[in-house]
Amino acid sequence: MSDTIYDVAVIGAGPAGTQAAVSASHQMRHVLVLHSGKVSFSRGRAYWSKSVEIEDAPVFPGITGPNFAKELMRWMESRPVVNFMLGDKQRTTGIDIRDGMVTRLTRDNDTFEIEASTAVLKKDKPMQFEHFRSRTVVVASGFDDKWPDIEFQVDEDRLYKQYATVFRYAGNRKGWHVCIRCDGHLHVNEHLALLGVGDYIYEAAIGAQDFTDKITILTNGRPHGMSTSVLKQVQERKIQIIETKIKQHIGEKTDLLGFKMMDGTQLFFHGFLVDEGLIPNTKFLDGWDYQKDEEGLIIANEDMQMLDSNGNPIPGLFAAGDIISGERNLIATAFALGQEAGLSASDSLRKWHYPHD
Ligand SMILES: Cc1cc2nc3c(=O)[nH]c(=O)nc-3n(C[C@H](O)[C@H](O)[C@H](O)COP(=O)(O)OP(=O)(O)OC[C@H]3O[C@@H](n4cnc5c(N)ncnc54)[C@H](O)[C@@H]3O)c2cc1C
Repeated sequence: MSDTIYDVAVIGAGPAGTQAAVSASHQMRHVLVLHSGKVSFSRGRAYWSKSVEIEDAPVFPGITGPNFAKELMRWMESRPVVNFMLGDKQRTTGIDIRDGMVTRLTRDNDTFEIEASTAVLKKDKPMQFEHFRSRTVVVASGFDDKWPDIEFQVDEDRLYKQYATVFRYAGNRKGWHVCIRCDGHLHVNEHLALLGVGDYIYEAAIGAQDFTDKITILTNGRPHGMSTSVLKQVQERKIQIIETKIKQHIGEKTDLLGFKMMDGTQLFFHGFLVDEGLIPNTKFLDGWDYQKDEEGLIIANEDMQMLDSNGNPIPGLFAAGDIISGERNLIATAFALGQEAGLSASDSLRKWHYPHD
């Protein structure tokens, strides 16, 4: 482990983590950013908008996910690490960007210790770990979308099973989507199928009505599980519910046209929204006593500080972006939460504060 103790360590380099890092370094802090993109191919949600241009992110209209990720990286690289004198003390500011999938976070007195796998993951090769230290940490690791179990052609099936390529199916103009607010505009007045169950999927239908009134709910073989009041509304709005299991994707490569169903029928749609829930990227927090909601998303206070089970702020530990409970999962929100977390982490390192009697 190196002797360096960073002021702020940021886990994740999506819009939330990037903004947190830039904001903290702008306050003269020495920042470490660890992001798993290259070592694990878990590149963050924005990256996977590969063929649909992002239309509503500030300053970046009409950019694809991979180019957006490059721009974020360029922004951080514009703040290299330098030493400077503050009064008679030497200090360091700027951003150190490292490839690393964080696997464990622990604390020793006032310092966090971060374990990260820093070599590209390869089958049959042991992981290679490095350790970093920091006085504060911002968790901006986002979440992954859950994906349905549907058959593909043999060559696509191989790709589908690899984590890294799952989202090639998302953000595709011809079919798969995971975010109605992001891609709904591509399907104005077109037929949209929504995959999910329970009252939760009706919330997706409520969002879809801004773009179309031709909506079908697919449950993929499960009972719809909606409450009586929600079901009544679904019926009043003439939204069809199909409970048959989906067998196979119809369409060339990732262009989805429809599905073969287990009962032999075929269904065709213009767009298909997967809304099956999420997997939070927080494995490295196992063992920490922190508040989270039923999906595992982090509950933070207004300074983006994480809370223990008694509701007390956990000193030095902040979070931002999609990983925060109750926020909109969108880029501009991630930037805003990232700024709050980066500044709060930075403020927490000040030596003196306003007196409270
Ligand atoms: C297909 C698609 C299209 C979208 N289109 C739009 C759109 O048009 N407009 C819009 O506003 N929003 C859109 N979104 C939503 C938007 O991408 C997210 O809200 C936003 O990216 C969240 O930012 P974030 O920084 O919180 O997380 P993410 O962007 O998910 O970034 C998470 C970061 O954490 C890293 N990470 C994860 N685990 C670890 C770990 N253990 N160690 C180290 N690093 C880790 C990842 O490498 C990544 O850098 C879209 C999402 C998808 C999936």
